[in-house]
Amino acid sequence: MTIPQDPHLCIDLHCHSTASDGALSPAELVERAASCGVTHLSLTDHDTIAGLAQADAAARAKGIMLIPGVELSCLWKSRTIHIVGLDFDPETDGFRKALEHQNDNRWARARLIADRLAKLGIDDLLAKASEVAGGDVPGRPHFAKVLIEAGVVRNAAQAFKRYLGNGKPGDVKAFWPELPEVVRWITEAGGIAVLAHPRKYQLTATKLRELTADFRRAGGRAIEVSTSGQSSGDMGFLAELCRKEKLLASQGSDFHFPGAPWCELGRIMKMPDGLEPVWHSFRRPVLNPAPV
Ligand code: MN
Ligand code: MN
Ligand code: MN
Repeated sequence: MTIPQDPHLCIDLHCHSTASDGALSPAELVERAASCGVTHLSLTDHDTIAGLAQADAAARAKGIMLIPGVELSCLWKSRTIHIVGLDFDPETDGFRKALEHQNDNRWARARLIADRLAKLGIDDLLAKASEVAGGDVPGRPHFAKVLIEAGVVRNAAQAFKRYLGNGKPGDVKAFWPELPEVVRWITEAGGIAVLAHPRKYQLTATKLRELTADFRRAGGRAIEVSTSGQSSGDMGFLAELCRKEKLLASQGSDFHFPGAPWCELGRIMKMPDGLEPVWHSFRRPVLNPAPV
């Protein structure tokens, strides 16, 4: 279930454009957000801020407040975890270098997968997989598609079973940095680190509490309490975790493409009362308009 937020203040702090794996350009995304009634938006593409300039220009034209954002991948106990960075200074030198480093890591992994699958004799495997990924860094599902197209396997399940799955040649773990490092990048750029969609990692409640505590110790300040496709039970659990760890509460649709009825810009379940919203701590705090 999704319900619209307060029409005077509609805040969505997690979404994607074509700068990463979203379907809409940054300008189209902002226009869609405006038509959905969003007043405050953060574009949080995976490991890049390349879409921010275009999004900001569109946001100014539409009268939306754009908050600088990004979604960074990192490792915690060998699992890939996503950390959203909000309200940082995109001009910070160290931060830009960190993003380049992140991008280099993604390509290095893709290159290693392609090298390991070289014996299959598919010409230009990396280039083909990248094409499947829309010109971006390919991951294992993209390699699987190329293997299917080349007639090496019949379907994705077979591609994973023989070449890409656990323990197979193409099983290259992501080269992500550890969680504290990513939190530090965001913090040093003046931003707020947010633990993204905590229920998506399929962690037990105990593990999730452990992750949240480690995240806070590393300097993380907020968790996403409300995100798309989450039950109210999940949200209740996260709200409790948020209070217990004394973290700020964030919300975002994680919108990637139009047409998914469970996920629309600005349509996020209202967070329970009694939490401290992350937007009160922005450099220019977003506060509820005074009642008229
Ligand atoms: Mn994505
Ligand atoms: Mn994510
Ligand atoms: Mn996301």
